[in-house]
This record gives sequence, C-alpha cells and structure tokens, in this order.
Amino acid sequence: MTTENLDEIAKIIRGAKSVLIVTHTFPDGDALGSQLGLAHILKDMGKRVLLYGEDSISYLYEFLPCCTRIDSEVPDPDEVDCAIALDCGDRFRLGKAVDKLLEIKPFIAIDHHAGHKAFGDLRWVVEGRASTGDMVYELSQYLGATFSLDAAYCLYTAIVSDTGSFKYASTTPDTFRIAGELVARGVNPEEVAGKLFDNFTESRLQLLQAVLSTLELYGAGKLAIISATHKMFELTGADKADTETFINYPRSLATVKVAALIKEVDGAIGVSMRSKGRNHDVAEVARRFNGGGHRNAAGCKFRNGETLKEVRDLIFKELLALVENQ
Ligand code: 5GP
Ligand code: MN
Repeated sequence: MTTENLDEIAKIIRGAKSVLIVTHTFPDGDALGSQLGLAHILKDMGKRVLLYGEDSISYLYEFLPCCTRIDSEVPDPDEVDCAIALDCGDRFRLGKAVDKLLEIKPFIAIDHHAGHKAFGDLRWVVEGRASTGDMVYELSQYLGATFSLDAAYCLYTAIVSDTGSFKYASTTPDTFRIAGELVARGVNPEEVAGKLFDNFTESRLQLLQAVLSTLELYGAGKLAIISATHKMFELTGADKADTETFINYPRSLATVKVAALIKEVDGAIGVSMRSKGRNHDVAEVARRFNGGGHRNAAGCKFRNGETLKEVRDLIFKELLALVENQ
C-alpha cells in the first residue's frame, strides 16, 4: 500500500521537539546512511534526535559521521514526540523491539520496498524508488532544511549502496541529480567508494575465496548459486557482515540472470538474491519464504533449524523455475 502523506509527515516533524529514528535489523548502507543522514538534518533543525538499532554496525560503515550514536535501548514513548522508520518494508524488520517501538505515536514509515506491508500511523512509500536515502534528501528539501556535509556523506552512501554504484535498474535521472547535488556540497565519491568497496580485510578475502569455490551454475548458466558455511566463517575468522557484496561476483557472469548467496549465520540461514533486468522478480520468490525486497535485490531468512542444504534445494527449485520460464 502506498500513501502519499509527505505534507502531513513534514508537519509532524516541524512540530516535534524530540524524534526517534530507526531502521531495519542488520542495517545496510541505505538503512544506516538514511538513518544517520536524517539525524544530521533534524539535529541541524534544532531537534533532539534519538537513534535506535539492535545490531552492532559493520566496520564497513564506521566512517559514517555519528554512527556510534545509535543506541540499543528503545526510549520511553513519552520521551519522544514521534518515531520515523526508514527503509523497512515490514514491521518485523524493525527487530525484537517492534511492539515497543510501535507504541510511539505518531509512528511514521518512509520506505521504497516493493510490496511494502503497511505499519505505523503514517507512511510515505515510493515503491521502486532507488533508495531510501534519496527520499530523505527529498524530505529535507520539502522541510526547507539546511544540509551539512555530514548529512550529505550519509545520504550519498545510502544512494551508492542501494543502486550498486548507480548500476541497478532503479537508477534514474533523479538519482544522478540528487547524487550530483550531494557531490556539489563536498562529498568525495572516491572516498566513499574506497570505504565501501576497497576496504577488505585479509580474512574477508579468504572467505570470498572459499565462498566462490562453491559456485554452482544451472539453466544454461542463467542461474548462479554460492554458499557461505558456518565452517568457512570459523576457518577464516571473517565476520558475518563480510559477505556483503559477495553476491555481485556470481551476478557479474555474462550469462547469469539470477544469482543467490546462501549463508549460515547466527544459527539461521540467510538468502540474498539478485537479478538483472525486468524479467526475473526475485522479491516474488523471497516473499514465498516470508522475505521481501525489490525486483532485482531481495532476501529471506530460515530460522526453523533448516540446514544449508535444505534451504539451497528449496531456493534452487524456485530460482531454476524463474530462469527457465523466461
Ligand atoms: P541483501 O541481499 O542485501 O541482504 O538484501 C537485499 C534486499 O532484500 C534488502 O534491501 C531488503 O530489501 C531485502 N531483504 C533481505 N533480507 C530480507 C528479509 O529477511 N526480509 C525482507 N522482508 N526483506 C529482506
Ligand atoms: Mn533500501
């Protein structure tokens, strides 16, 4: 469901003295960049800003200004005048504290996920928009807010992360216009790309080596699957966040239309899926397993004791049908 409520949302924000900003669990570049970017913008408007997140932040995002200000405690509902959830396609992605968070009124959701499942009191959802970061930029323009260099870095990082460096189908002239304005304000694209993409540790490279050796190709090379086992993490000493961007390697094969990374972390099995072009909707497949995402980038989790092999077989069957039907 999409609700165009930007005017009402801007009114609430203008009237609020104290705002809580949250995003989804295991936050990626768009989630953190949007959360911290909006935090800088609202702070510069003179508001008290509180940030909540249950997970620790991947070292990849430690360069984002003020990332240490994210608290793992939910404030009391009467401590804040409103809460804003960014980049969350459904309430469960808010994590363990979802019920406590939704006690805060009004609760606003700003999101760009296809198949967004409505939650909270007020929503601004633009399905298919390149990133939540560029929606936060638009919100700030709507609010007439000033823009610090710190905010610009956060939002630029959000946009680069969710567009795969301006490569994905969701990238539009607006994406480039907004990114261009952020660069005009002083963001150094080389620096951000270096932090996000050329920042491997040795253990991460070893993990990549092990994961790439699991590459399986099917459907005349249209489907690629790679796997990261618990043992690989143990042997290399790599962190669970280290698999971020690994999916781009199988996706980079010329023949590949659909790629999946299956990983064993924290006693659960996570699946990341990517596709190229308009014909293969991986979000649709993710939703069959209670996940979600976008047409070209989606994911789901299996938490009921399934083995990696069982998950691989389930995902393989669905994805092979997807590539063979096109
Ligand atoms: P990634 O593969 O980078 O973890 O996730 C790609 C996209 O899939 C994310 O931007 C997010 O929209 C979606 N996604 C990943 N995991 C889940 C999940 O467990 N549930 C839902 N609803 N969406 C997910
Ligand atoms: Mn996003």
